[in-house]
Amino acid sequence: DIVIGVLALQGDVREHLVALAAADAVARPVRRPEELAEVDGLVLPGGESTTISKLAVLFGLMEPLRARVRDGMPVYGTCAGMILLADKILDPRSGQETVGGVDMIVRRNAFGRQNESFEATVDVRGIEGGPVHGVFIRAPWVESVGAGAEVIAEHDGHIVAVRQGNALATSFHPELTGDHRVHGLFVDMARGYRTAASL
Ligand code: GLN
Repeated sequence: DIVIGVLALQGDVREHLVALAAADAVARPVRRPEELAEVDGLVLPGGESTTISKLAVLFGLMEPLRARVRDGMPVYGTCAGMILLADKILDPRSGQETVGGVDMIVRRNAFGRQNESFEATVDVRGIEGGPVHGVFIRAPWVESVGAGAEVIAEHDGHIVAVRQGNALATSFHPELTGDHRVHGLFVDMARGYRTAASL
């Protein structure tokens, strides 16, 4: 079995656990460094990125998270989770740190305020069977990516999904749609990584 954790400090943890289970992974909440050490991959959920960042520091998880991402652990961030994976935030709030790992600059709340949240169909490179339904809730967009990162989806001329090696990030929330293809892609990435590691 492939074991995928969901960082469970704040945000839509339960929805990711359900989506991962539907994508044939064993899904577990992760709150402590010992729990982080036991997963094959990790999801950083949507929520509020400053809050998650501060709680990660408080729970002693920030350095272990950075270390595992640096080591190549597969990681998938949605919305606030995408912000946490960015090497740089354009407009960080004070005390807001990121885990980093993806060579991209994100702009928080880029699509507007809470009441400007919206849904749209999005073509994602690597996802078969047509576009996904993108739910954007006070979503960030990616201003720019570095040479190592691949843009895999755009909306209205803005980058909304990026992949770099074993890291995946989306501005939108597939965990809220009942369509588990993006989680399936991530679980496949984690399986591939574990297979390669055991060869
Ligand atoms: N606006 C939130 C942030 O900056 C992200 C919103 C979300 O995860 N849906 O953290």
